[in-house]
Amino acid sequence: MLEGRARPYRVAIIGGGASGVCLAGLLAEQSRPDCPLEVEIFDQGEALLRKVLATGNGRCNFTNRDISLDHYTGESREFPGPILESFGFEEATAFFRRLGLPSRVLDSGMTYPATMKADSLVRILEAWVRHQGVRVRLSCEIRAVEKKDGAYRVQDGEGKVRGPYQALVLATGGAYGIGKKEWSRGYSLVKDLGHRLTPIHPAICGLVVRKSDFCRKATGDKLEAGLRMVDGEGRIKIRSGDLLFTDYGISGMGVFRLSNDLLALVGDGVNPEVRVDLLPDLSLDEGVDILGSLYESRKDWKAEEALAGFFPAKVLRASLEEGGIQADQALSQAPLSHYEVWLASSKTMTFHVLGARKKDHGQVTCGGLATGQVDPQSLESVLTPDLYFMGEVLDVQGECGGYNLHWAWASAHAVSRAIQHRIAKET
Ligand SMILES: Cc1cc2nc3c(=O)[nH]c(=O)nc-3n(C[C@H](O)[C@H](O)[C@H](O)COP(=O)(O)OP(=O)(O)OC[C@H]3O[C@@H](n4cnc5c(N)ncnc54)[C@H](O)[C@@H]3O)c2cc1C
Repeated sequence: MLEGRARPYRVAIIGGGASGVCLAGLLAEQSRPDCPLEVEIFDQGEALLRKVLATGNGRCNFTNRDISLDHYTGESREFPGPILESFGFEEATAFFRRLGLPSRVLDSGMTYPATMKADSLVRILEAWVRHQGVRVRLSCEIRAVEKKDGAYRVQDGEGKVRGPYQALVLATGGAYGIGKKEWSRGYSLVKDLGHRLTPIHPAICGLVVRKSDFCRKATGDKLEAGLRMVDGEGRIKIRSGDLLFTDYGISGMGVFRLSNDLLALVGDGVNPEVRVDLLPDLSLDEGVDILGSLYESRKDWKAEEALAGFFPAKVLRASLEEGGIQADQALSQAPLSHYEVWLASSKTMTFHVLGARKKDHGQVTCGGLATGQVDPQSLESVLTPDLYFMGEVLDVQGECGGYNLHWAWASAHAVSRAIQHRIAKET
């Protein structure tokens, strides 16, 4: 495909994270003696893929069995469609299998390296790019980029200019890294290149809610819950997972799964509500049956003793209090109907979301480079030829569950295809 070219085609990738390293390896694989392709990665950090090492609690949830647009948000919800269609779950797992990384798929669809260690995936990717002669420049923050005479040049923090490159790829990630040192300055490069940014905010994080008194009383208790919201386009979204009560509000996997949509609404000036079913595996009728027999057989027991099987201790106390029932009174002190109302409201508890937890930088940045100025197939800038964007720097966010790393791999594959196509056209 690339035959007939003598001069090396040089590509500069700014950002040695998930998408940057993936693209570097894919392009370097295509280099041939008669058609050389030189790939150079710049990263401000001291090692490649540092954020990836911290993903999934060190286990790296790198894709999900259920890849669809429903799990992505952004200014344009449709934008990631063509890329996700051509690179879905099968393609992601096959890609890593080819590199020597088998995967483990959990019942939830969340997919990890078979070793359940992010370190395995990171070491494989690093070795892959190094063995193919990709030039890696670490501790090298790119502060400026320019295009002159049809070629790109980049300038680092010490003023050193490198280039020329035929193609430039921005893979600088979101605004927040795993430490303050890694906060990305990629967005200023985006602006210098004439592109528009949408407002940014952290997501996949804990949420501050109006009902904070309840949360404070239940702080530290965690349970499996069903969560439900209406998103910005009026669609009902239902997710399940851990719900953790904290002194500021709610957190846990179930909350993370809806946080992108909920915080997008907060950004639009709304305090959206999230409905929580604290007993998702028990229907109301079943619960009422159990209550009825307990009410008969445990009359003299304290309410919190008789009902201990429903919820963890602090959630039980807080919910009984909210239902006007004293936790340490005998069960028979209140009529059965009070307990039935208590049970029903535990299945439809409503929290109004006020925002992201202040201290929390989240696992993903919502917002970023406006996708309206980017080709949805090739991820090439529609303003400047041979300029590409991938991964989290774009205004494309996946929900918690492996969707953001999936987007990083999928977008790198799209840019790789586009650059190869471009080279083929030139030769
Ligand atoms: C704690 C945590 C856990 C997560 N867990 C998961 C998970 O389990 N599953 C999942 O799908 N997603 C997870 N994510 C999100 C996921 O890690 C990111 O979405 C993904 O890494 C984005 O890939 P990227 O290539 O766009 O950017 P990154 O991987 O963030 O890489 C960007 C790189 O660019 C570099 N850079 C930025 N600006 C410059 C510059 N000017 N010059 C030079 N270098 C620059 C940065 O140093 C960084 O190395 C998690 C995130 C966090 C913080």
